[in-house]
Amino acid sequence: MPDAPTQLAPGVHRLGNALVNCYLIEEGNDITLVDGGFPGFRPQLDAYLRDRGRTIKDIAAVILTHAHSDHVGMAEGVRSDAGAPVHVHEQDAEMARTGKVHKRDGSMLPYLVRPATWKLFLAAGRNGGGRTPDIQELSTFTAGDLDVPGRPRVIPTPGHSPGHVAFHLPELGVLIAGDALCTYNPLTGRRGPQLMAKAFAYDALQMLASLEALESIDAKLTLFGHGEPWDRAPAEAVAQAREFGLT
Ligand SMILES: [Zn+2]
Repeated sequence: MPDAPTQLAPGVHRLGNALVNCYLIEEGNDITLVDGGFPGFRPQLDAYLRDRGRTIKDIAAVILTHAHSDHVGMAEGVRSDAGAPVHVHEQDAEMARTGKVHKRDGSMLPYLVRPATWKLFLAAGRNGGGRTPDIQELSTFTAGDLDVPGRPRVIPTPGHSPGHVAFHLPELGVLIAGDALCTYNPLTGRRGPQLMAKAFAYDALQMLASLEALESIDAKLTLFGHGEPWDRAPAEAVAQAREFGLT
């Protein structure tokens, strides 16, 4: 993917770079930012909004699939500049407030020989990934529909992090899977539907079990924290991720 934002469907936009995605969902004049990418994505967001005749003030809410730093990114800056609340699952709230990450279910060591891993580190470094501002004010949720533009339905998918969720936007036919699965593994560079590595996960077996929650969802487009959009049924992506298994 070029490092330029694109409209994927009416009211659905992808931002970020080749390694890390975040999304905008429009409902009328109001916008929800889904995940905050890296802090360094902010100029791209501002420029994209400007090109579309919009400003940061049109962002009415920020929602996080989880609170890892490559998803919190610019959220605090957007919160304070737009006056937009940041919403996260209560199990990830402490991580969003402090940046303190849970235990990991696998070692990073085997990945340190992988060029893809270094590409990710480099991209994180260039985009302020090591200096993600903590979220000063948070709104937490556990389940249900969020009262934000797009009215996303929360699909709890714990495992990658304790409070990881996916967001289903039934009216748009869109599923935002976050890191419950991906189509690009940022540690190995492998493409196609798969689970994120154990080295990034809080509980890998729970992550595997959480795929069940996505299987039955009806969506034309499934979007990920890492990798290209998927335009077949979520169940097909889940089947491929299960077949490949844990890494
Ligand atoms: Zn991620």
